[in-house]
Amino acid sequence: MIVPMKEILIHAKKNAYGIAAPNVIDAGTIRSVFEVAQEMKAPIIIDCAGYDLIEIVGDISRFYERKYPNVNVALNLDHGATFEEAVLAIKNGFSSVMVDRSQKPYEENVREVKEIVKIAHAVNVSVEAELGHVGIGSEYEQTRDEGLTNPDEAVQFVKDTGIDCLAVAIGTSHGTYKGTPKIDFELLQEIKSKVEIPLVLHGGSGTGDENLAKCIEKGIQKVNLFTDLSNAAVYQLNNYLEGNVIVDKDGKSGEFAIQNVNLYDAFETGIKGYKEKLEHYVRLFGSVGKA
Ligand SMILES: [Zn+2]
Repeated sequence: MIVPMKEILIHAKKNAYGIAAPNVIDAGTIRSVFEVAQEMKAPIIIDCAGYDLIEIVGDISRFYERKYPNVNVALNLDHGATFEEAVLAIKNGFSSVMVDRSQKPYEENVREVKEIVKIAHAVNVSVEAELGHVGIGSEYEQTRDEGLTNPDEAVQFVKDTGIDCLAVAIGTSHGTYKGTPKIDFELLQEIKSKVEIPLVLHGGSGTGDENLAKCIEKGIQKVNLFTDLSNAAVYQLNNYLEGNVIVDKDGKSGEFAIQNVNLYDAFETGIKGYKEKLEHYVRLFGSVGKA
């Protein structure tokens, strides 16, 4: 069943485990999430980023919800950037929306998040927002420090907005890190001791198993993941294609030849890599058997 994200996160916080929140991009990745949730009896949060994906991800998720009625998943809009995007997600059956105004000044962030909280809560949809800012990996060394979340401001932000979970910046980054991730566990502990609602970690990929396990131990409940899952899929795909796609390397004749491989099996091979990596994280975060 697709349930409000808040329910999944509150249970995780109470019982000190973490939830994997993989980004999905198509029917194959959505199917993988439902299969893993069913097979491992694990709660999972589907993250959907991008305006163009909202309607299709909503429809396909409901299709798999009918096929796997016993799973415990939430459907969350990831990095919702506009008012329209949040409303479209709610209209399409999402059980949670992230309202990301983390690059705006505090007052503006509060005002725009609050507006969505009022609408979302009226129909039992959870809201995630971010304070501080998790940047992108290619700019990691320049932007890590300035984005870190201020714990006292976080307390005020939760009070001012009425959100259900808070995305924090404690030293992670989106995409591939340029440099080594330095996680501020003391900052996480301080935020956790002051903020009562569940905490979200963006940029889980490339952060390392040891760091992520420690983040969960110290108080993170939701870990967003895409790059690691994508990389696992592409790696499998590359093995599948290797030697079977003969490309005219000098590009002069424009010729290529395909042997022993086809598109259906290529897609399924990639999806298998995505699914295996997701299973790895579900185990690492301690959510097996928690649904
Ligand atoms: Zn993110």
